[in-house]
Parts: sequence; C-alpha cells; structure tokens
Amino acid sequence: MVIKRRQGAVYCWCLTCEVEVIMLTPDEAASLTSASTRELYRMVDAGEVHFIETPAGLIRVCLPSLLKTVDRPNCNQQLYLRAKVDDEKS
Ligand SMILES: [Zn+2]
Repeated sequence: MVIKRRQGAVYCWCLTCEVEVIMLTPDEAASLTSASTRELYRMVDAGEVHFIETPAGLIRVCLPSLLKTVDRPNCNQQLYLRAKVDDEKS
C-alpha cells in the first residue's frame, strides 16, 4: 500500500469507493464536520464513514464518505476542501 504524505493529508485507496481518496485523521475529520472526535469514532464504528487502519493501528477516514454524512455542508467547508485538494495535488 502506497501512502503519499504531504502537509498531513494522506492519499490512499479506499476499498469502498474503489478510488484513491484523501484520508483524514480522526481529529481532522472531526474539525471538518464540526463533530466531536468521539462522534467521529462512533460514525467509524457504525460504518457510516469509510476508514482504513494504518499498520501503526491508527484510523484514517475517507474524505468523500465523510462529506456524505454532512447534512448541509456549508460553502466554507466546500471551499476549504477544494482548496486543500488543489494544494495537495500541486
Ligand atoms: Zn471511501
């Protein structure tokens, strides 16, 4: 498994999406969705978001699946994500 890491973001193959996605740490995912880290872990446990477990036993959350859990994503979040993705690809 190839993991490219830059500025905290990790690109990784999501088995559920069947595409390479940005994987966020639980803290990043929580701050992005205004959820608590505990709530984030609950969603992971419930299978509401895709995730991988790193060899070190850390959880990484699939960004596309996380966005689907946001009922009404506001413009700032969308812009933030787009800017982040563009930055990571440059
Ligand atoms: Zn996914």
